[in-house]
Amino acid sequence: MKQQLTIALSKGRILKDTLPLLEAANILPAEDIFSSRKLIFDTNHDNIKLVVIRATDVPTYVEHGGADMGVAGKDVLMEYGAKGVYEPLDLDIARCKLMTASLKDAPPVSGRIKVATKFVNVTKEYYARQGHQVDIIKLYGAMELAPIMGLADRIVDIVDTGNTMRANGLVPLEEIAYVSSRLVVGKAAMKMKHRQIQPIIEQLAAAVEARKSEGK
Ligand code: AMP
Repeated sequence: MKQQLTIALSKGRILKDTLPLLEAANILPAEDIFSSRKLIFDTNHDNIKLVVIRATDVPTYVEHGGADMGVAGKDVLMEYGAKGVYEPLDLDIARCKLMTASLKDAPPVSGRIKVATKFVNVTKEYYARQGHQVDIIKLYGAMELAPIMGLADRIVDIVDTGNTMRANGLVPLEEIAYVSSRLVVGKAAMKMKHRQIQPIIEQLAAAVEARKSEGK
């Protein structure tokens, strides 16, 4: 008998790139996810369900077995730690960079650098590796505003096209990490449901390769 399998998807930007990959692996939601307020979706497989949750909650669900596998950005996996999950596949979607940035023409900082970010752990580790003492200011959004308002000297944020930073008079400085979305699998699920999970990993890997060869 086939065991139940739950896949946790990050809502928002990542979701629209995830669904075509799932479709290529023949996993189709039973209804349109974008026009529904549901959190749990049936699929074309009796035993597979999708849950659509905040990106930052995906590693937690997968680690604790609330979902067997999931899709999460590398930024989220780095920030929230993902010791209890395997990361078998780079899905090569939602590519961007985690970068430091400052106001254009900002004068050099004397003393401790004030850094505003929602990526507190990654930022701490990055500056510690550089041998810099920094004061980290935790924000939940609109990091670009912090240097403009004199709250911080630098920000650490995600950059895709760079338009958001440019529009706010900021310039990206150093690249901390390359980010893309990853397939994650819970350690218990990988052991107990391997026969069901392995073919899905392989089909998704084939879909990722096909997308790459189309030059996407
Ligand atoms: P951009 O203006 O294209 O550089 O996009 C920057 C903003 O878009 C960032 O502040 C992020 O909030 C968001 N963003 C861009 N790419 C991603 C991604 N792959 N995952 C999550 N957020 C993203």
